[in-house]
Amino acid sequence: MNFASQKLETLAIHAAGGPDPATGAVTAPIHLSTTFERSAAGDYPGGFVYTRQGNPNRDALERTLAALEGGAEAAAFSSGSAAASVALRSLLRPGERVLVPDDMYHGIRRLLVEALVPWGVSVSRVDMSDLAAVERSLTGDTRLVWVETPSNPLLKVTDLAAVVRLARAAGARVLCDATWTPGRMLPAFELGADLVLHATTKYLSGHSDVLGGAVIARTAGEAFERIRFLQRCEGAVPSPFDCWLTLRGIKTLPYRLRGHLENAAAVASFLEADRRVAQVYFPGLPTHPGFDVARRQMRGFGGMLSFRPQGGEAGAAGVAAGVRLITRATSLGGVESLIEHRASVEGPDSATPRDLLRLSVGLEHPDDLIADLDRALAESR
Ligand code: PLP
Repeated sequence: MNFASQKLETLAIHAAGGPDPATGAVTAPIHLSTTFERSAAGDYPGGFVYTRQGNPNRDALERTLAALEGGAEAAAFSSGSAAASVALRSLLRPGERVLVPDDMYHGIRRLLVEALVPWGVSVSRVDMSDLAAVERSLTGDTRLVWVETPSNPLLKVTDLAAVVRLARAAGARVLCDATWTPGRMLPAFELGADLVLHATTKYLSGHSDVLGGAVIARTAGEAFERIRFLQRCEGAVPSPFDCWLTLRGIKTLPYRLRGHLENAAAVASFLEADRRVAQVYFPGLPTHPGFDVARRQMRGFGGMLSFRPQGGEAGAAGVAAGVRLITRATSLGGVESLIEHRASVEGPDSATPRDLLRLSVGLEHPDDLIADLDRALAESR
């Protein structure tokens, strides 16, 4: 099958393959077996040996993830954080440096500080929306630039193609954590990234019911082989059922994304126009400092936004307490809208403003979401 010519909606449904050749089942069976029979001649006719190394469901998921992103290879993991850990340890050696954004998913920042730094890797942080600062930070020992755009939770926008040019000139690879921009909403490989990471826990699976992660490589080669080696050796892989659930979610991804984008834009416009809100962070608002770059490099502005209600931390707590339709919970990318007080989720070392609420805009009707926020804003005063 020539996937290169097919559109996202088609790939999401068909890249995993057609009906099961053994039974004709239209929906793929779940292969729970951990081990596969070897022939008398000593080979493995089905191509699988042992599930830590490879499994039909994981294989189908990896093929689909590579096709969706437009990459050559994909490796699936048991969480986005496991994918990040393997990627960092595969792409860096002790004595080398990684450049990361000053605003990024706090779990990966903590992984860097608590696990990679003691291993001998140096970490530099920079505001990646400032290209001059990025250029100054690319020291001779920098081997990897980690990009997250829009960033979590401040929605800062990085000009990916420009950062790739700077990184290349400095001899560093670029990995883009595209968890917030799946389905080529940010065409990271077209913009030059070497690797893409996803927490498939979020939009790709899309129903808040399965953890997972993936690393996808633009080209096959030595960097991806190291990732594949650690994946198979360590076995932080999704179970066959997790792979199956994630693939089921992916089938509707392009259509779910349309709803997320539309709803987030409507909610962001409502919040920006409301005097009870001090600030809204959403790259689709023309007032956002990253609007022009986001409009140029993204297809849609995403389903995530953050905002700071008037009244400081107490005001934010009041709004979070007042919502009835939106659920107070961490995470994102599911069909249901989630709101969270990000600083307290991130812990005592968080630099996130104490009055900031992060909103993962779900697929409820936008009028109902706006009515819920409107009432919570009124009640918190
Ligand atoms: N990357 C980003 C941008 C995230 O938001 C998250 C989780 O929220 C992760 C990675 C980690 O994913 P997981 O929770 O599956 O480990």
